[in-house]
Amino acid sequence: MPINFLYPEYEIIRDTNKCIACRVCQRQCANEAHTFDEEAGIVLSDSAKCVNCHRCVSLCPTRALKIVKTDHTFRENGNWDSNAITEIYKQAESGGVLLSSMGNPKDFPVYFNKILINASQVTNPSIDPLREPMETKVTLGAKPSRIERDENGDIVDNRTPSLTLSTPVMFSAMSYGSISYNAHKSLALAAKELGIYYNTGEGGLHEDFYEYGANTIVQVASGRFGVHKDFLSAGAAIEIKMGQGAKPGIGGHLPGEKIVGDVAKTRMIPEGSDAISPAPHHDIYSIEDLRQLVFSLKEATNYQKPVIVKIAAVHNVAAIASGVARSGADIIAIDGFRGGTGAAPTRIRDNVGIPIELALASVDERLRQEGIRDNVSIVVGGSIHSSADMVKAIALGADAVYIGTAALLALGCHLCRSCQGGRCNWGIATQRPDLVKRLNPEIGKNRLVNLVNAWTHEIKEMMGGMGINSIEALRGNRLMLRGVGLTEKELAILGIKHAGE
Ligand code: SF4
Ligand code: SF4
Repeated sequence: MPINFLYPEYEIIRDTNKCIACRVCQRQCANEAHTFDEEAGIVLSDSAKCVNCHRCVSLCPTRALKIVKTDHTFRENGNWDSNAITEIYKQAESGGVLLSSMGNPKDFPVYFNKILINASQVTNPSIDPLREPMETKVTLGAKPSRIERDENGDIVDNRTPSLTLSTPVMFSAMSYGSISYNAHKSLALAAKELGIYYNTGEGGLHEDFYEYGANTIVQVASGRFGVHKDFLSAGAAIEIKMGQGAKPGIGGHLPGEKIVGDVAKTRMIPEGSDAISPAPHHDIYSIEDLRQLVFSLKEATNYQKPVIVKIAAVHNVAAIASGVARSGADIIAIDGFRGGTGAAPTRIRDNVGIPIELALASVDERLRQEGIRDNVSIVVGGSIHSSADMVKAIALGADAVYIGTAALLALGCHLCRSCQGGRCNWGIATQRPDLVKRLNPEIGKNRLVNLVNAWTHEIKEMMGGMGINSIEALRGNRLMLRGVGLTEKELAILGIKHAGE
């Protein structure tokens, strides 16, 4: 028998004085890490099966369990850490590409954490958001370049279709298939209650969710799964996915075992077949080709829907965005290299792309220089952790942000990063009916609404502190930001001064 070099990353610690052998942990762990020894009447644990999702810890009625990182150690050094060693063992055993989920965990700089926000003192007084109106509503889409009047002198409504958000945040694309029916339902219900939008991702739109169309962005990705006339017409906007921050330059792969029942029906592919999205759209090899798809989608929906083009933040993102802005798109979504995913090749996720803060600043600057900034709105995603990140993103030039991982955390995700296995113990990244039902859509909705409302309160406080009373006045207002510990080059790309200046 070959020797297994993969040692448990976590240890399940059971306090036998507290454990009452109720077997809740055994029932709750889809990874079958807990077993019951009938003869001895005790629950046993296999740490090798644990992914540290905290489900058993949270539900243990006597708090008898905890999961700790193992202190077993490799002979590490500055060159070879345990992660690098383990990955070599895994590939030597499997001969395959390493797969991971969620966003890039590597220790690259998080620029949002090196940027500070301004506040008014003495002159330009701050605004009290509890007593004075603060406008968080934003409209996404092309802004008319001039006022037009008819022969009677009355103003003509020359606005193009747009999206109106009560607060500058949307739930980013997560497909039905990568996440569960109940997770999608929670997002749809929350988007409706909040007056914002959620995004179908590339899996199509389940027929039960057509009723939330007014708060839905429908996505057209390279695989074109679930794309048909009714789908396009159902949403408030259409998003063409050209790239994704977690896996720029490559396609997607949802394994056949997740293509079951309604997931297969919604994607319009046979049950059990792998859903493989090609790396490129096979009809797009230039901005002109992209323009054709943008206008095909507009034509198919009678020019009633704004079109979003989503790109990954990569090295020449400003030039790419400039082309996209000229393609007829109404909104550009940029996904940074920390963006989440249900499954991506580990090497791509961890090494390809650039931070969203730098991408956003350079795109906003380039579109301004070219005089086309108002032709499109900019939405950014890729690890927005808090309302402060939102404020910083907007001051760097974004009109709104997409949140994915933060929304899943609100639903109960514990970032165990095992979504690709399909055994999410929290009912989020799974299609197993017994696991899906663990997520109550009504409770999920309430938690998402709470999160977004809390962030909106905080945004109002931060804006009030700056003496700013609308998102519109904050957008691109880089004077409100200062950097700490950044190089001249980084400050120049971000377009901000250093703290103290
Ligand atoms: S995988 Fe989750 S439920 Fe299973 S033992 Fe580990 S923490 Fe508990
Ligand atoms: S969605 Fe589920 S499987 Fe994925 S990281 Fe969160 S808890 Fe783990």
